[in-house]
Amino acid sequence: MKKTVLKFGGSSLADSGQFKKVRDIILSEDGKTYVVVSAPGKRSPSDTKVTDMLYSAYDAASRGRNYSEILENIRRRYLEIVTALEISFDLDKEISEIAKRLETDPQVDYVVSRGEYLNARIFSAFLGFEFVEPAECVFFNADGTLNQDRTYSELNKKLENLDHAVIAGFYGAFEDGRIHTFSRGGSDISGSIAARAVNADVYENWTDVSGMLSADPRIVKNPKSIETISYRELRELSYMGASVMHEEAVFPVRAAGIPINIRNTNRPEDRGTWIVSHNSTAGSSAVTGIAGKKGFSTLLIEKAMMNNEVGFVAKLLNIFASRGVSVEHIPTGIDTITAVVDSDGFKRSKSEILDEIKEQLNPDTVIVESGLVLIAVVGVGMVYKKGVSATLFTALADADVNVRMIDQGSSEMNIIIAVDDSDYGKAVNAIYSAFFA
Ligand code: ADP
Ligand code: ASP
Ligand code: MG
Repeated sequence: MKKTVLKFGGSSLADSGQFKKVRDIILSEDGKTYVVVSAPGKRSPSDTKVTDMLYSAYDAASRGRNYSEILENIRRRYLEIVTALEISFDLDKEISEIAKRLETDPQVDYVVSRGEYLNARIFSAFLGFEFVEPAECVFFNADGTLNQDRTYSELNKKLENLDHAVIAGFYGAFEDGRIHTFSRGGSDISGSIAARAVNADVYENWTDVSGMLSADPRIVKNPKSIETISYRELRELSYMGASVMHEEAVFPVRAAGIPINIRNTNRPEDRGTWIVSHNSTAGSSAVTGIAGKKGFSTLLIEKAMMNNEVGFVAKLLNIFASRGVSVEHIPTGIDTITAVVDSDGFKRSKSEILDEIKEQLNPDTVIVESGLVLIAVVGVGMVYKKGVSATLFTALADADVNVRMIDQGSSEMNIIIAVDDSDYGKAVNAIYSAFFA
């Protein structure tokens, strides 16, 4: 029988009206259906996600401040759903349990996981599907990484005898039973894990846009939707800021060759984007998508004869590593090397890092620039097309954008550039027009 894992994001389940849309989508699927849910998200741009409200409640409790108003607002979000859909669910008992934990033993991961827990319980009651508690089948190692073997085996054991189930996204538990969450947006990972555990035919990821778009819709007006994209391209784009899916969500399904289909809950008739091993449309267009991430700094280090000095790069990377600063790129010249680093991490230990570079590497000059944004232009089709760089840099020059760094990824499927924060929108729009308009 066909097996489908369907993950619904926060905006897809933000209120009772959305719950009904999601029910209709699920009931129109054949075969076994396993549903992974997020906490209620924003109902409008100015709204607050339940997960954010739970973080605020935890924050207030841990500072000894009053959190009852926040908890009451959370209760109301669920009350609207339970009441409008006439679901029998003891909401007050659940909210009191959270209040009790906030009072006696506030643990952040437990508190913020309650958004998914409540939504999954309520949604399972609404559909008459079994509720699956991830604390009993998604396991983390002590260092916070997923215990893959145990998770896949326990999840599979739970699901194999069920035709339908609702699983709360975003969290699991350590061996000792303490709740642990993935990073923000992590229900995408929960869905991917569930799909892998049951060896699903497809992992459907339902959200509020009709698939992966070729650029961030908050920057480019009505960007084209991508029909088919490879796991590798998705990974590059999501890592580089295309926030439609969590950057780590691709791995579990990719290892098993399970396709992902990103769909729009508000337009279920749209085909969405298919994410597969090989992008069969590669070659028809050089560029599949554009994404960007803010918050980077560069350190340009110059030293004559650097190229002859064995271990120079290793020493430099060690200096950053020992301060916990992640290095995103290191384009090199003969006598120059640029380290592109995360600005927040760098700023925390800037003077120590600069001192260590001077002491250990004895450079001629070090120039630091901050306020940069990285833009990735991604496409497996680039390998087959000539003139991609020429088109890209001509478009940027015509738009009067100053390119501060260029790195052609060794995967030959991306070109990454750095531009000033203030040029971000202009640059992305110029690139989009050059390749897609
Ligand atoms: P969910 O709540 O369903 O998990 P998210 O808010 O995490 O949804 O992700 C969907 C959002 O991602 C979209 O509403 C859109 O604003 C944003 N986004 C950013 N870049 C892209 C892109 N390239 N394609 C599609 N959506 C994008
Ligand atoms: N609710 C969590 C968050 O807001 C997880 C998710 O939505 O995927 O980050
Ligand atoms: Mg999300």
